[in-house]
Amino acid sequence: MLPEDHAARGPVLRVAETILERAGYRRIETPVFEHTELFARGVGASTDIVQKEMYTFDDGGGRSLTLRPEGTASICRAYVDHGMHKLPQPVKVWYHGPFFRYERAQAGRYRQFWQIGAEAIGSDAPALDAEVIVLLASILDELEVGGLRLRIGSLGSPETRAAYREELQGHLRRHEGQLSDDVRARIDLNPLRAFDSDHPGTREVMATAPLLLDRLSAEDAEHFAEVRALLDAVELPYEVDPTLVRGLDYYARTVFEFTSDALGAQSGVGGGGRYDGLIAQLGGQETPACGWAAGVERMLLAAGDRPAAAPIVDLYLAVDGGEAARLRAFRIGAEARRAGLAAQVELAGRSLKGQLKQASRLSARYVAIVDDTGQVRLKDMDAAEQLEISDVDVVAQVLRGRGLS
Ligand code: ATP
Ligand code: MG
Repeated sequence: MLPEDHAARGPVLRVAETILERAGYRRIETPVFEHTELFARGVGASTDIVQKEMYTFDDGGGRSLTLRPEGTASICRAYVDHGMHKLPQPVKVWYHGPFFRYERAQAGRYRQFWQIGAEAIGSDAPALDAEVIVLLASILDELEVGGLRLRIGSLGSPETRAAYREELQGHLRRHEGQLSDDVRARIDLNPLRAFDSDHPGTREVMATAPLLLDRLSAEDAEHFAEVRALLDAVELPYEVDPTLVRGLDYYARTVFEFTSDALGAQSGVGGGGRYDGLIAQLGGQETPACGWAAGVERMLLAAGDRPAAAPIVDLYLAVDGGEAARLRAFRIGAEARRAGLAAQVELAGRSLKGQLKQASRLSARYVAIVDDTGQVRLKDMDAAEQLEISDVDVVAQVLRGRGLS
């Protein structure tokens, strides 16, 4: 990530921080690698992530470690390890950082990418689902991410899902001949993923497949209806998509995804859902929870280029003399920065002309030319004025000129 990329990314992280912290989410940071077992159990053995996208290595001490492919499993581990169930619930946290997946790299899909995520752990209230969705919507809205669509669905409870799974497997087996090879190979392991396929034969089969949404228990259907009512209450548009299947195994009840038409094939900007079973699966108590993750690179792609503000330079220290002048310029530069000014010192041994050119490239507001006379020529570049002053007065003069004193 080059400096100009960082300049574009900064505002994204700041917007997320402002919106999430305002809603009471606090930043959490988990390690960049964890025991492989955590992801195998937490993300799910049948997922693409665990099956083919993890960077797994032996640490030399006989432990299998994996570069984190996602954030939720680690946060649940932290919740269990640090007894966070004793805190007032729900525990609301957010994070951002690098994640790693072994994928075919292309526009919007990288092997190391940056995610922002939020998790709210310890409540099964539909308001939790709606809150996290609304917060991600606000972030994307604030960033002016274009062509956004929100799709939501419900996967019901593990029991409903298990019964539905069998029903769907029956349907797939009845039409096995029409399915793509990989969908057929995964009828047992992950039949729900068949909804994601763009293989024509598979799509035809899926058009007549039974839908999980039609099989929800009364309680789960009620939960889903409440989530929708809350989204309606804040006038957040969404589409109910009965075929929405998130790529992670641990979801139950609400799932959602934001996509952007401004992106090509990798249209997913961010998504998530409820994962009520995960914490118990990782050794904690039964704890309902909900969250999402969003890709920073995709948010930036979908938001289009927004020119980043050039860094401000209050003072540029140019040297027009020998060793003594260089020392003085260096000292004034350090003093200026201590006083809170953005100050840069000539470091490349340029001629005076070259230094003035560099100062103008940086749009420096003031240029101080330190020469062998023992005085400083301070140029106010806006007013095109020049003062002859002594070293000790330079900082005070620039502070005054910048309205900082
Ligand atoms: P996709 O369908 O594109 O593979 P996913 O379902 O694997 O996405 P999640 O695991 O839900 O994605 O991750 C949340 C977000 O992280 C995605 O919506 C996307 O913005 C981003 N993301 C996921 N994988 C990558 C990647 N390899 N490179 C860049 N961003 C990614
Ligand atoms: Mg993926």
